[in-house]
Amino acid sequence: MLNMSRRDFVVTTGLAAAFGLNARLVVPAFAQKTPDPPKGFVNYKVGSVDVTALYDGIWEKPQDPAFIKNASVDETKDALAKAGLPTDFVSIPLTVVVLKLGDRYVMVDSGSGGGQWQPTAGKTMTNMKAAGIDPSKINTILISHFHPDHIFGLMEKGTNQPVFPNAELVVTANEYKWWTEPGRVEKLPEARKGLGQRIQTVFPTWKNFKLIEGDKEVAPGVQLINAPGHTPGHAAFLVGSGNQQLMISNDTAYVPGLLAPHPEWQGAYDQDGPLAVETRRKLLDRVIADKMMVCGAHFPFPGAGAFTKDGSGYAFKPVQS
Ligand SMILES: [Zn+2]
Repeated sequence: MLNMSRRDFVVTTGLAAAFGLNARLVVPAFAQKTPDPPKGFVNYKVGSVDVTALYDGIWEKPQDPAFIKNASVDETKDALAKAGLPTDFVSIPLTVVVLKLGDRYVMVDSGSGGGQWQPTAGKTMTNMKAAGIDPSKINTILISHFHPDHIFGLMEKGTNQPVFPNAELVVTANEYKWWTEPGRVEKLPEARKGLGQRIQTVFPTWKNFKLIEGDKEVAPGVQLINAPGHTPGHAAFLVGSGNQQLMISNDTAYVPGLLAPHPEWQGAYDQDGPLAVETRRKLLDRVIADKMMVCGAHFPFPGAGAFTKDGSGYAFKPVQS
C-alpha cells in the first residue's frame, strides 16, 4: 500500500467508493498525522548533570469512552482542545531520558522497541545514536514500571534477547514481584495477558535486576520515589545536582493536557485509579512546593516543564524544544 502508484490509489479508492466505504479507510492504519520533532534528541542540564531527551514516537490513540473512567469523550476532547492538541485522537508521545552522571550513563526506561508497541514509535535507539550516545555504554537502566511502552525496548523483537545485556536494571521490588508472581497471568485482564506472559518468560531468566524497597538512592544524586497507582510498583526518579532538581515523573501525570486540569481523572491505564489520583496530587504538590522542573514519559517532547496550582487542579507549562 505504501508504494502504490497514483493509478493504484485511484483504483483502490474507486473500489472503496463502490462498496460504500469512506476512501480514508484505505489509508494505512499507521499513517501518522503528527509530525516528528525536527530533531529527535534534546540536551539540557540539571546542575552538572547532562540530560538527553530521546524521542521514541507517538501513539495517536483513537477516542474511546473507556479511556478515562470518570470523563466522557466530549470532556476529553474539550481538555485536549484547551491544551492546543488535536481532538480527533489522543496524542500520547513517548520520550526517554538519559542522564550523564560523571562518566556513567543512566537511562530511564527503554523506549518501546521498534515495532513492538505502536508502528509510529520505537525510535529511541535511532535517536540515541544520533545524540552520540553509544547504547553499549549505558551502565544502568532505571525502570519506572512494566508497561510495554517502557520495557519493550529492553527486548529484541521475536527473540526477547536483551538489548542492553551489560546494564544493571533497577526496579521496585513491588513491581517485579507483582508481575512475576505465580498465577499472575491468569488474573490479568485479557488485554494484559500477553504482556504478563512475556514478562514471566523473560525477566526471571535475566540476572541483572536490582530490586529496590522504599525510597532509595539508585545512582549518584538520583533517588527512587515510590509512586504507585498507575501500576503497583510504579516509580518516579528525583535528580538533584547543585541547587537544581528534576522530578522524572514517568506516568504519574501521564498526558498533562488531560491530567493537569483534571488530576482526579482515572485512566483505564491506571491499574488502581484512586491510588493513582492520590499519588499524582502528592507528587505534583511536592514539585510545586520545591520549584522543581518535571519531565514525564508522555509529556510533549522534549518532555519537560513546570507545574503550578490552578484552582483544584494544576497548570502545565512545557519547555520549548
Ligand atoms: Zn507509559
